[in-house]
Amino acid sequence: MQTSPLILLAEDEPAIAEAVGFALQSEGYRCRACATGGALLEALAQEPPALILLDVGLPDGSGFDVFRRVRELSGVPVVFLTARKEEIDRVVGLEMGADDYVVKPFSLRELVARVRTILRRGPVRMAAPALSPSVAAPVVSGKFAHDGGRRVMSYHGQSLDLTLHEYRLLEVLLQHPGRVYTRGQLLELAWEAPDHRLDRTIDSHIKSLRAKLRAVNGSADPIRTHRGMGYSLDTSA
Ligand code: CA
Repeated sequence: MQTSPLILLAEDEPAIAEAVGFALQSEGYRCRACATGGALLEALAQEPPALILLDVGLPDGSGFDVFRRVRELSGVPVVFLTARKEEIDRVVGLEMGADDYVVKPFSLRELVARVRTILRRGPVRMAAPALSPSVAAPVVSGKFAHDGGRRVMSYHGQSLDLTLHEYRLLEVLLQHPGRVYTRGQLLELAWEAPDHRLDRTIDSHIKSLRAKLRAVNGSADPIRTHRGMGYSLDTSA
């Protein structure tokens, strides 16, 4: 009999740990809850999990430090659980190479759906050392290339003349090609100033970004619209 996938959960609030554990188990996953980062690392050494849910605020230190330790040992997908006030942390988490984040209070249904989506992506990837964008060589992803040091985006070999926010939007979308970002997530990740945060801001910038991509390659439309959800990037188009 095949054992069901193991999810490790690092969460120091017992009520959340219990609710998440119950939700995962009712979906056929095994869940092992740890109240500290240290306990998580011990559990990780005992049995390789399919995925880790990692609270950013743990009693024995930051979830980000725990994440770095996890990455030294394993390429297992990691989803951060973060409080709303830690908005900047979410950006940091994704830039560090986490697979996703969920903001508290989250819906259990949404959390389980995210877990399922990530596990569907396939086997555990090898751990890759995180490079700071400022020192990294241009990153090629399908038809896109991103030179973070020079802040230049290329599409089909042509560098794009982008506004700051078009650049930031594309940068965010490129970090996880295929991942669907809601307008709210794109605003949080691509806009530094929290003023003028309207969903249609995203729509208008997506529109202008699309026009610039179309000017390079008129037949492809690599930015996908997911009705009622948001946008993702297909780097192969
Ligand atoms: Ca906590």
